[in-house]
Amino acid sequence: MSEIRSINPYNAELIHSYKEHTSQEIESIIKQANHRFKQWRETSFSHRTECMMAAAAELKAGKEGYAKTISAEMGKPISQAIAEIEKCAWVCEYYASHAEEQLAEETVSTDAHSSYVRYEPMGIVLAVMPWNYPFWQVFRFAAPALMAGNIGLLKHASNVFGSALNIEKVFRKAGFPEHCFTTLKVSSDKVKAIIENPRVRAVTLTGSGPAGAAVAEVAGANIKKTVLELGGNNALIVMNDCELEATLDTCVNARYQNTGQSCIAGKRLLVQEDIARDFIPKLVERVKNLKSGDPMDKDTYIGTLAREDLAEELENQVQNSLAMGAKLETGGKRDGAFYQPTVVSHVTPEMPMFKEETFGPALSITIFKTAQEAIELSNNSRYGLGVSVFSKNIKDVKKLIPQFDEGAVFINELVKSDPRLPFGGVKESGYGRELSKHGIREFTNRKTVYIN
Ligand code: NAP
Repeated sequence: MSEIRSINPYNAELIHSYKEHTSQEIESIIKQANHRFKQWRETSFSHRTECMMAAAAELKAGKEGYAKTISAEMGKPISQAIAEIEKCAWVCEYYASHAEEQLAEETVSTDAHSSYVRYEPMGIVLAVMPWNYPFWQVFRFAAPALMAGNIGLLKHASNVFGSALNIEKVFRKAGFPEHCFTTLKVSSDKVKAIIENPRVRAVTLTGSGPAGAAVAEVAGANIKKTVLELGGNNALIVMNDCELEATLDTCVNARYQNTGQSCIAGKRLLVQEDIARDFIPKLVERVKNLKSGDPMDKDTYIGTLAREDLAEELENQVQNSLAMGAKLETGGKRDGAFYQPTVVSHVTPEMPMFKEETFGPALSITIFKTAQEAIELSNNSRYGLGVSVFSKNIKDVKKLIPQFDEGAVFINELVKSDPRLPFGGVKESGYGRELSKHGIREFTNRKTVYIN
């Protein structure tokens, strides 16, 4: 039986070694989950609401402990890990309060005596999740899925199994019955067989493009519904007439929070020519002042990357861009899994820092002249998760919105997820939506009823 090891990226110590579930154990878990589905789907919204509110309360009560495991497993600064847990409590409360109305029957007037749409649960949904927000990515799937009457099976990233088991614990402590939500301790090579299991009805994946393509291929061959939340290469477009200080703060946060390891991070800064001279030095100064250090220290803003190989990959992207003519403004050094907060200017669309997703604390800067040029640069990407535009002239920026090939446009704000708004991308950022009423309906059977 193989083992999966979780290593602390800050001090390289082994945290825990997990025994993988065997194929027989997986089969048995899925069988029991299916049995649970038959009962769970019959429970009332008020019962599910009670459980989901209890999950929110458990998250709030246990946030320090859950956050510590996150920080140890993937290097996230502890204050940001605590904020992540609090956000999970919010999404639980949101769906506890809104699921019933979001899934209420919808009357449609037709030739029938009566016709309407019902939103019914699909059954067992497999969630394949990444390590960058080990709780949030899971809760934004699980809260709506469970409220809709579905059952969750989690295959989490291999470096965050402690968090994955904690999430199962939260649901159990909150009163969700056994097998309503289960963590599978498996590596990615077991995912295919799980999707192929006839009792598993759908799969959602948050992660990289290759993982998304592999999962969608198996799901497609088995005619199973998928939602994919994949990579992003968001632009931050800074217009000449922006509010300078506020834009600087937001851009730094957009790129460097979570040590830059976010799909919706602003990775490509596009600055309009006239403001660039003033904006870039101020930005570099702010980045130099970001506090790096021990993820367990409450004042730390920049932790380590989740694994050393990820820091090496980022280092290569920066070095290769510099070799192609880009200019290092600050940072650029690596020590194990730690990568200095970095700013690189004179970046052009051919360079890795523009073309590829950089998953860490390194920002690329490109200067543009006109709004049209900024739109073209922003759209010059395989990805389409979101874009931020900074300008005081909201009236004119609103006219540009239809030209962005993105899942979201944020004006004078960083792209962020909010339980009340749909979240998801276009192009190679994936398809389907999470959060809001759109997210909860993804894993439902929209049943048409026609009565004459
Ligand atoms: P990853 O390597 O794609 O892993 C994500 C999950 O997929 C893990 O559970 C992984 O398991 C599993 N996996 C990997 N290859 C697989 C395969 N061939 N078949 C089945 N499962 C497979 O991504 P990551 O490095 O954890 O996360 C970073 C990526 O996620 C970035 O591209 C980022 O932009 C994206 N992301 C997107 C969003 C969004 O909402 N759009 C949010 C966060 C992150 P193992 O760990 O066992 O390999």
